[in-house]
Amino acid sequence: MKIGFIGLGNMGGPMAANLLKAGFDVTGCDPVSKPDGVPIAQTPAQAAKGADVVVMMLPNGKTAQAVASDVLAEMPFGSVLIDCSTIDVSTARKIAELATDAGVHALDAPVSGGVGGAAAGTLTFMVGGCPKALDQVRSVFDVMGSKAVHCGAAGNGQAAKICNNMILGITMLGTCEAFALADKLGLDRQAMYDVVSTSSGSSWSMNTYCPAPGVGPTSPADNGYQPGFAADLMLKDLGLSQDAATDADAHTPMGELALTLYQSFVENNGGAGQDFSAILPWLETQKRG
Ligand code: NAD
Repeated sequence: MKIGFIGLGNMGGPMAANLLKAGFDVTGCDPVSKPDGVPIAQTPAQAAKGADVVVMMLPNGKTAQAVASDVLAEMPFGSVLIDCSTIDVSTARKIAELATDAGVHALDAPVSGGVGGAAAGTLTFMVGGCPKALDQVRSVFDVMGSKAVHCGAAGNGQAAKICNNMILGITMLGTCEAFALADKLGLDRQAMYDVVSTSSGSSWSMNTYCPAPGVGPTSPADNGYQPGFAADLMLKDLGLSQDAATDADAHTPMGELALTLYQSFVENNGGAGQDFSAILPWLETQKRG
């Protein structure tokens, strides 16, 4: 199978490398990042020429749509465009329309699992689009990840991703607030973890990714809050969730507040480049009111 891979950054680089290792005929394209061993084309259109599959792993919806327009013109009838970037739902649906007009199947397939999952080939994909197209490229997903969940029509993969990450942002904030309060009440962090992780306040944020150093399983908190999942990316995903909520007229007050807090953390309080759980040490410096 011939694959064009557009966007070879932190995520796309190792994903393309895994496809090459599995024996796929991969040509990549990225103006900046050129990982060792990945054959590189000068333009996305050249990488896509005659490809059975084009995978995109790009920073945002505007770039994804522009690149999609370029590559669709070169892709054969019946081929599949997989966009693994995290982008807004409406642009994902627009890309699917452009693909249909070009006789190409489009799948929006954002990922969970981060840079570690990309390197290990253990990503989870949330896939929107035609189920037959997903079956057609199942072998590609099987190399890049361990699970590809069909979520419905075009855009629904992005919808699943931003809903999941809105919950994640909110639960991480709640968990960090509770630790900051517990500290001020003189409650030992280990005792707090032991109770909450087996009680009704438990969540992935507490049990698997505990934001307090030295407590629970090893997490970015134990590594000076190096990401992990960067606060900047959480801010991006919370922004996408609120854009979608505005478009859909959905009431999401907690999501909106989480966006405001991560914005303040990343833009004005040293959160850029830190893990998203580093909001705990920041909250501890704050006073009420
Ligand atoms: P990145 O910035 O490392 O990589 C993006 C790459 O796209 C860059 O190398 C850039 O040069 C390239 N690019 C930009 N415009 C291009 C164009 N016109 N043609 C070809 N290449 C172009 O970002 P990343 O961390 O790899 O993230 C990629 C996507 O995955 C984002 O949408 C992000 O939200 C999502 N994501 C990232 C993570 C993570 O942990 N990094 C986790 C889940 C999802």
